[in-house]
Amino acid sequence: MVAYKSKMVESISLPPRDRRERNLEAAGYNVFNLDADEVFIDLLTDSGTGAMSDSQWAALIRGDEAYAGSRGFDRLESAVEDVMGFSHVIPAHQGRGAENVLYGTVLSEGDVVPNNTHFDTTRAHVANQGAEPVDCPVDRAFDPDASDPFKGNFSLERAREVVDDVGPERVPLVIQTITNNSAAGQPVSVENTRRVREFADEIDATFVVDACRFAENAAFVRRREEEFADREIDEIAREQLGHADAVVMSGKKDGLVNAGGFVATDDADLYERCKQRAILYEGFPTYGGMAGRDVAALAVGLREAVEEAYVTDRIDRVAAFGEMLADVGVPIYGPTGGHAVYLDAGSALSHLPAEAFPGQAFVCELYREGGVRGVELGSFAFPETDRPELVRLAVPRRTYSREHFEHVAETAATVLEKREEVVGFEIAAEPEIPELRHFTAGLEPLA
Ligand SMILES: *Cc1c(COP(=O)(O)O)cnc(C)c1O
Repeated sequence: MVAYKSKMVESISLPPRDRRERNLEAAGYNVFNLDADEVFIDLLTDSGTGAMSDSQWAALIRGDEAYAGSRGFDRLESAVEDVMGFSHVIPAHQGRGAENVLYGTVLSEGDVVPNNTHFDTTRAHVANQGAEPVDCPVDRAFDPDASDPFKGNFSLERAREVVDDVGPERVPLVIQTITNNSAAGQPVSVENTRRVREFADEIDATFVVDACRFAENAAFVRRREEEFADREIDEIAREQLGHADAVVMSGKKDGLVNAGGFVATDDADLYERCKQRAILYEGFPTYGGMAGRDVAALAVGLREAVEEAYVTDRIDRVAAFGEMLADVGVPIYGPTGGHAVYLDAGSALSHLPAEAFPGQAFVCELYREGGVRGVELGSFAFPETDRPELVRLAVPRRTYSREHFEHVAETAATVLEKREEVVGFEIAAEPEIPELRHFTAGLEPLA
């Protein structure tokens, strides 16, 4: 059931076809290089791209800019305590700032870190400490056709193999990412979180939950984990997060704001240690690199994120978008996760081999045909892995409605009709760090 209506609007328009063609060429066939004004429906990411509520805008105006001890920080502390159940909060400029604060405090050279799947910035921050990130997804996490309810789960079997291999003393930290962003936004069960807690206890490790999409995860838990069928969203969230020693959070996801993040914990000692690094990299620990007004808006957003009407609408909207695509014959990763629909471009454009980047070809056609911007998460984004050739269509929060999604589905259907004519790509200009190439590399269509 829809839980809000528009009160302010932003104009959008579909640039004419010849301009879209020119834009693509000028962008080196990399949609990160397009001007946002030249994009009609922008599904590049759900990170910081959503709409704030009138209550959040009111909080923004009332927020104070005190360097230390701001009123907005008090509100954030009480929101984190009420919604997530942690008494200590260290704000950061966004999620990766929080990762730097926490992982920089607890990790050292030579450590090994299991995670259901490391998000890109998490992997980079773990590696930046000289530690080794190891992904432990469940077997069917990357199978687009498996219908298991919790494909985002952490595989304890894999993590135990890692510990057997390197010894428990090298594994001081275990991370669980909910929902599992890099595995198609699939949810994680509370039962799985309990088992990861036990595992962390066995090896005497700190257990961190990457809680960026904790509210969406709780909505899935209520629908799919019987024990929680009658529980409130915020109760489920506190139950799940309560097993962790600390959480890292990006406010740009389930904080419902455009910037910000934090670390939260009940561990007074860990809090004190993190505070020192926070001052060095982020700011004084009552603002942490955020403007005071943004802290105030985040405090309100966190509470809205666990409102039943909001979060149910959120996951229903993403699921309905997935159905629209499936109805016009577009192969998608199922079941749909919390923040995006993933197209299986490898199967949609089966005439293109992985070396010709079928995902990137699909992304370019979506823009060419309908001014839609998605992002490739296959061989172009992840060189030298055997991930499926997926295209992510991320859904910004409270931003697009049914007509927008219908346009995207029609556009995707047009691409499918013309699939035989769709050509692949080769890389024309590659940056130095291959892991980050999809942000800046230039491409050329194959003849
Ligand atoms: C977005 C994200 C982060 C990093 O947060 P930013 O605000 O983008 O810096 C970390 N982990 C996960 C799972 C994310 O989705």
